[in-house]
Amino acid sequence: MKRSRSRQLFHNAQKCIPGGVNSPVRACKAVGSDPVFIDRAIGCLIFDADGNRYIDYVGSWGPMILGHRHSAVISSIRTILERGTSFGAPTDLEVELAEQIIEAVPSIEMVRMVNSGTEATMSAIRLARGFTGRDKILKFDGCYHGHADALLVEAGSGVATLGIPGSPGVPQSFVAHTLSLPYNDPQRFRETLRQHGDQIACVIVEPVAGNMGLVSPQPGFLETLREETHKTGSLLIFDEVMTGFRVAYGGAQALYGITPDLTTLGKIIGGGMPVGAYGGRRDIMEHIAPQGPVYQAGTLSGNPVAMTAGIATLKEIQNPGFYDALEEKSRYLAQGLKQAADAAGIPVYIDRVGSMMGMFFTKGPVTCFSEAKTSDLDRFKHYYNAMLDKGIYLAPSQFEALFISSAHNIEHIDETIRAAAEVMVKL
Ligand SMILES: *Cc1c(COP(=O)(O)O)cnc(C)c1O
Repeated sequence: MKRSRSRQLFHNAQKCIPGGVNSPVRACKAVGSDPVFIDRAIGCLIFDADGNRYIDYVGSWGPMILGHRHSAVISSIRTILERGTSFGAPTDLEVELAEQIIEAVPSIEMVRMVNSGTEATMSAIRLARGFTGRDKILKFDGCYHGHADALLVEAGSGVATLGIPGSPGVPQSFVAHTLSLPYNDPQRFRETLRQHGDQIACVIVEPVAGNMGLVSPQPGFLETLREETHKTGSLLIFDEVMTGFRVAYGGAQALYGITPDLTTLGKIIGGGMPVGAYGGRRDIMEHIAPQGPVYQAGTLSGNPVAMTAGIATLKEIQNPGFYDALEEKSRYLAQGLKQAADAAGIPVYIDRVGSMMGMFFTKGPVTCFSEAKTSDLDRFKHYYNAMLDKGIYLAPSQFEALFISSAHNIEHIDETIRAAAEVMVKL
């Protein structure tokens, strides 16, 4: 596959942008290749600067649940452009999206819009600290909650991919209040909360971990988080930036029937525009300025273009049968990939929740970050590059999830499975 234009663009990019990219995982360093520069996309197809066509399983890292350039989303954006792009003042659109989110997500009674998932988690943690008057926060190894200082401890996504333990530039004192525990280990969690619970402002978790590959919560894990945080008065924050409106319309909390105190959102609720949000119990949310003393603000927050793309997306995914269809296609893909690996004698472990999936090159099971790290990264690298050459666009890291959109149809998935079968026998 010819990618000379991408190569040229990357060459130029590296001179003016650090690493040539505006987010580290895009650089494809872990898979030993150069990034593909994208020209355009439609449905589940994405086209690079050299005109090559790929079936897209990255979906802009989660937002594109409807596929690219969905007509309802595009026409809503066209309409808002006739009114303006940013006012820095309240609009009807913010209220409409807030109402949609409150109706959808069981635990959310009030919601504040921000511009990214990072901002959402950072603000939710400030709020939890302000509300409880406590300093410590607890997270889980391999979970990624954006790049705020206090959360760059044992983090997933690019931090895991690039093998960065923390990050220079984050003072030790900034992370001194952050505890990190293994995912899916209720016993360790219980013990830690019994010891430090009265100092812990909040526990933040990806209810389905999607930033160390895909690791689903074991039965009882999320329940334990809920029970123990109740006892210690620590707030439970579900970081649903990825899982919100993805694993179910009401997110992972609706799927598993667990009610957190606060929830962070992003990705899908912006329909492909930059967005984030945090919400939860009214008595907690009322602590945010100007109603309360916890300060948080944003010039572009509630941006009308992002709001309108989010509203249009949420309307579409409410159609009856939407999630059932996604589930069916995702199950079919998971089955096909497993069969391809088995036929080639390649050990893989596949975990999946709805249209989020992870395939680890290890026998498994993978229930936590240390198990995810037993994956054969060299094998993943060969798999990634060979799949790319067959027109299958995957996240360039073993520690990222794969996403299926409503625009993928059975033919696209069959093409993907065929490619995987051909690639696997040569691994
Ligand atoms: C993507 C993601 C974030 C960060 O969101 P950005 O918009 O990239 O800042 C935070 N938490 C989770 C679970 C995510 O998947």
